[in-house]
Amino acid sequence: MPTRERNVAGVALQLPQRGEWWLFDCGEGTQLQILRSGLSLGQLTRVFITHMHGDHLFGLPGLLATGRLAGNARRADVYGPPGLADYLRACWQSTEAGTTLPVEVHTLAPGEIYRDDEFAVSCLPVKHRVPAFGFRVTELERPGRFRAEEAAALGVPFGPLFGRLKRGETITLDDGRRVDGAALCDPPEQGRSIVYSGDTVFCEEMVRLAHDADVLIHESTFVGADEELARRSRHSTAAMAAQVAAQAGAWMLVLTHISPRYAPGKASAPTDLLDEARAIFPRTELAHDFLSFEVARRVNPKHR
Ligand SMILES: [Zn+2]
Ligand SMILES: [Zn+2]
Repeated sequence: MPTRERNVAGVALQLPQRGEWWLFDCGEGTQLQILRSGLSLGQLTRVFITHMHGDHLFGLPGLLATGRLAGNARRADVYGPPGLADYLRACWQSTEAGTTLPVEVHTLAPGEIYRDDEFAVSCLPVKHRVPAFGFRVTELERPGRFRAEEAAALGVPFGPLFGRLKRGETITLDDGRRVDGAALCDPPEQGRSIVYSGDTVFCEEMVRLAHDADVLIHESTFVGADEELARRSRHSTAAMAAQVAAQAGAWMLVLTHISPRYAPGKASAPTDLLDEARAIFPRTELAHDFLSFEVARRVNPKHR
């Protein structure tokens, strides 16, 4: 539940090169936080909902209704578990929020759920009290630069042969020399990847989903001392989140979904969760409202 310091679930992924951003989960109050964040509602194109619990969902009808009032030219695509379409339909029907909302709801099934020429999004079921999914956004690999000047220096005539070399093919010149295109291309640029768990107790599916991810945003509801509570409510401890990050070989872990029971002056504070996770996975950060960071592009071969 929200506190004065911390709102419920909502993660924005900005794609500045496309003037677009995507939202993962939309708890109550997310719309207000968006207004305070500098993100433009008009640039929101996709919303991904992990599961049908209010702290991840109750902000969505209001957000979509405002998007319509604001005259969103673009349609919003919403991805969520079975039940989400019915929930939204019931909201529209009982509040006149409109039957003309430019929203398309996609029901999640494990595997790839979206792909364009730059990004792919996939999901896997995780272990929570209700059907729940974790998401992975993968930026597709970009071909390395073709060094045309070197091809020209080798005497390759400008034209279709350049195209074949660029695709990595080996060509034979009129004088019988063979030129290997792959040797004239820089290594492909590896894409970035971010993974978001939603709510889950430790599970192998999250380890798979987060394999080699640049950023893993994992729920961390409880401290290790409350592990029994975590297992019963099917949430994670900070240590569980760190174990997922370590086993998956992720680069960076961000803890979120912190229980309001932890606060300075109480038996445990959120910083205790951070310490617990860092003991297992040092590159861990604790999320706070409006925490924002750039996912750095990896160089190839990976500097790790
Ligand atoms: Zn939940
Ligand atoms: Zn939750």
